[in-house]
Amino acid sequence: MIINADLHIHSPYTKKTQDKIDFNQLSINAEKKGLHLLSTGDCLHPQWIKHINQLEAIDEGTFRCNNTYFVLSTEIQSSDHVHHLLFFPDLTSLYDFRQQIIPFCLDLTQCGRPSINLSSEDLAIKAINTSAFIGPSHIFDPFSGLYSQYKTLSDCYGSASSHIFFAELGLGIDSYHADILKELHPLTFITNSDTHNPHPIRLGREFTQFQVKKITCKNLLEAFQRKNNNKSVLNAGIPPEEGKYYQTGCIKCLRSYSLKDAKKRSYKCKCGGRIKKGMKEKILEKATTKQAHYPYHRPLYLSLLPLHEIISKVLQEKNPFTEQVENCWSNLVSTFGNEIHIMLETPIEDIKKVADPSIADAINIFRMATFSYKEGRGGSYGKLYLK
Ligand SMILES: [Zn+2]
Ligand SMILES: [Zn+2]
Repeated sequence: MIINADLHIHSPYTKKTQDKIDFNQLSINAEKKGLHLLSTGDCLHPQWIKHINQLEAIDEGTFRCNNTYFVLSTEIQSSDHVHHLLFFPDLTSLYDFRQQIIPFCLDLTQCGRPSINLSSEDLAIKAINTSAFIGPSHIFDPFSGLYSQYKTLSDCYGSASSHIFFAELGLGIDSYHADILKELHPLTFITNSDTHNPHPIRLGREFTQFQVKKITCKNLLEAFQRKNNNKSVLNAGIPPEEGKYYQTGCIKCLRSYSLKDAKKRSYKCKCGGRIKKGMKEKILEKATTKQAHYPYHRPLYLSLLPLHEIISKVLQEKNPFTEQVENCWSNLVSTFGNEIHIMLETPIEDIKKVADPSIADAINIFRMATFSYKEGRGGSYGKLYLK
């Protein structure tokens, strides 16, 4: 079966998360979005684990609330400031791991995403020894991504490197950019929302589609390893060009520069403003080749914006949270079932019968990847052209 999964979310016990987030609301919104599987997030937090334990247990490490499945997962910050995602095959593994790390953590109740006083390598060894799966979160994040602290994956995980099966790309990074780095080729890429808010604009704004035998944690962990015909079949997420620092550009006048020119000018723009190096150039600097070569197993990466945002852009609303946008979105979702189905599969002609035809055309532009952008730079988001 084919399922849509968002494997990185946060509970109310992580800073900046909405207090009202709970499993019931997550599952209701996941269903409207078209997500079958979510991570619990924050599963080391003593309060959140009480909520997890109230869910219906389906299989080892697999729970259900309404029609949505959940797997045991948390994010952790290691002492070298790298963020990691961990998945636990069952509660025994989770409790074992928790015992192992308690001496290296001041207080697990402090934050849903705990900081552990262990290096990435030592943390990974403890995870592996307790049968958990670990991989880096948002690998190109400028503050807490693996590449912000290390040159290579093996510099980060050392002796544990061969046990890393997945990497999270992070918002606005696609497979094309990540596959420029050869060392990432063996890994399964996961694309997740990292949301602190259960609203369907945020939840599933990036997601991974998997082919699995059944929706269980065991099959998901096999999919990371591409075992027994379980595997990822699609990554979907925000177009990289949307990102505020995609291209190298001036933070004052937004003029764009090639890296060569920026260096020549010592990162000082003609207008006097500072030139900030773009994410694209940062990745290319680490690359051994200028172009990505996809490994045979890499699925398609589909650039998508949340449907609320597409509607808002087409209707020229101030933001995606207005009543008009919400009404249009609700109407589409109640007619066709869920957002991901609308974005990927509903016939465009059918969408035109229910919504403004320009919305249907915009959805088609994303399906065909024929959109174009004035690329984001200097702290300003990219501008989407829908023609
Ligand atoms: Zn993080
Ligand atoms: Zn300037």
